[in-house]
Amino acid sequence: MHSDLIGKIEKARRYAQEPERVQIHEFQADVRGDNGTNHTVKLHDGHWNCTCSFFQNWRTCAHVMAVQRLLNPMLTPQAREPELAIEYQPQEVVVS
Ligand SMILES: [Zn+2]
Repeated sequence: MHSDLIGKIEKARRYAQEPERVQIHEFQADVRGDNGTNHTVKLHDGHWNCTCSFFQNWRTCAHVMAVQRLLNPMLTPQAREPELAIEYQPQEVVVS
C-alpha cells in the first residue's frame, strides 16, 4: 500500500478515537421503537425533529434523546440541549 495512504489511515484511527473532533450539523436517522415502528429523527440548524406524536407536543422524545446520547460529543452545545415545549416551574409553597 502507498505510504501516504498508510499515514492517513493511522491519522483516521486517531481521529476516530476523539469524537469531539467531529461536529454534526445535519443528521437524519430512523430509530426503531419498542413496538417495531420506525421514527425518523432529524437535526437541522441545531434543532431536532421527530415523526412520533410525542415530539409534536413536547419538542423532544425518547428517539431524539437516544440519538442525543449516542452523538453527544459530536453535537454543538445547542443540539445537546433539550427543547422542551413546556418549562418546569415548581409551585411556590406558601408557608403561612
Ligand atoms: Zn420521537
